[in-house]
This record gives sequence, C-alpha cells and structure tokens, in this order.
Amino acid sequence: MRVLLAEDDELLGAGLRAGLQQQGFMVDWVRDGVAAERELLTGQYQAAVLDLGLPRQDGMQCLAAVRARKLSTPVLVLTARDGVPDRIAGLDAGADDYLVKPVDLLELAARLRALVRRSHGVAEPEWAAGALRMDPVARQVRLDDALVELSAREYELLQIFMLHAGRVLTRDQVEQQLYQWGAEVSSNTVEVHVYHLRKKLHAGVIETIRGVGYMMPKLVKPRGEGA
Ligand code: CA
Repeated sequence: MRVLLAEDDELLGAGLRAGLQQQGFMVDWVRDGVAAERELLTGQYQAAVLDLGLPRQDGMQCLAAVRARKLSTPVLVLTARDGVPDRIAGLDAGADDYLVKPVDLLELAARLRALVRRSHGVAEPEWAAGALRMDPVARQVRLDDALVELSAREYELLQIFMLHAGRVLTRDQVEQQLYQWGAEVSSNTVEVHVYHLRKKLHAGVIETIRGVGYMMPKLVKPRGEGA
C-alpha cells in the first residue's frame, strides 16, 4: 500500500523509507509541511507518517489544513520523546495515532497496517471478501483456503481491490495507488496484472466495468463458481 512520509531529517527519513519499503509499503517522501499538505490532498495515500517538526509549516498545521478539507486519510504523527503536549495536540488536531522517536520500524509498519484496516472498516487482522482472504502481515492470499502464489505487484494490486471491494475503481485510481513516485509505468500494466490475477484466482475476482474501470465484488465467489 502506498504511504506518504513527511520527515525533514535526511538520515531518519531515508531509514524510515527503506524500512517501510522492506515491509512492503510503497513510500513517497516529502521533506516539508507544505509539500506534505499538497501531496496528502491528492488522496492517493492509504496512510501518512507525519513528523511534527517540519520546515515551511509544521506537522500540526499540515494536519489541521487537510482535516479542514475533510481528508480522512489516516495519519500517524512522529513526536519527540518528551513531547507529551505535542502528542495530545496532534491527536486533537486529527492524528489517528502517534509514535515516539526513535521509531521501531516493525511497530510503525504494524500500526500503519492497523490504521489502514480500521479506515476501511476492517476490524480483523485478516481481510476477507467471500472466498478470498488476505493476511497483510504474512502477505499471503488464500482462495477457498488454498494458498495462491502472487508476485509482489499482483499482491499490491489485489490489496487495492480488496480495500475497495464493492466499489468501482478507474484505471487511473488503481495506477495512482500502485506506484510510488519515479516508478516506470507502461500504459497497460494494470491490465496485465489484472489478467494474471484472474488467471491465478478466477475470472470473477475482478470485474471489468466497461468504460469505467474495475471492481472486486464484496463477496468473491469460490473457484468453481467464479465467472
Ligand atoms: Ca523534524
């Protein structure tokens, strides 16, 4: 899933980005509060990690600005060890969670997964859509309880569809969530990955909505009953 990282400390930012990427996140990194606000408002992110001490405008101002625009993307703020008032103010300003620096990367990844899950109304650690199940920690997918081998990109794509099951996504919306900045995207990659997902799962897992895009049904049928 694609997340925005706002951190002005080069060393810390590089470490967080590398660590989150290792945990399977796609990370776009900005270094100031104005860029963070601008990018968050594009709405392409499943979550954001926001340092409070940022140049141009601080994290709190950025958070207040995006919440004022009704952006509901979950935001986790990073605070200093002694920053209790900061934490409280951050939560009051619309942050969904916080971590105190220095950050444990595994904990950050777990908290982000939980935030994304909750923002999509999923309470369980495993996501389900009918016969299809996804374990976002092990990054495993099962259909009819049988493990399905997916490439990293196919997994990411399936995750996007599962998070939006029952809703139509345009190809643009899918692409924006599938690739971090600077990624090479050829014009038909989404189609190609959808083709492979249908082959590995079954044709009914992702429906083509002609002239609009794609949709995963809320309740994916078992393999035998797949379209
Ligand atoms: Ca900072």
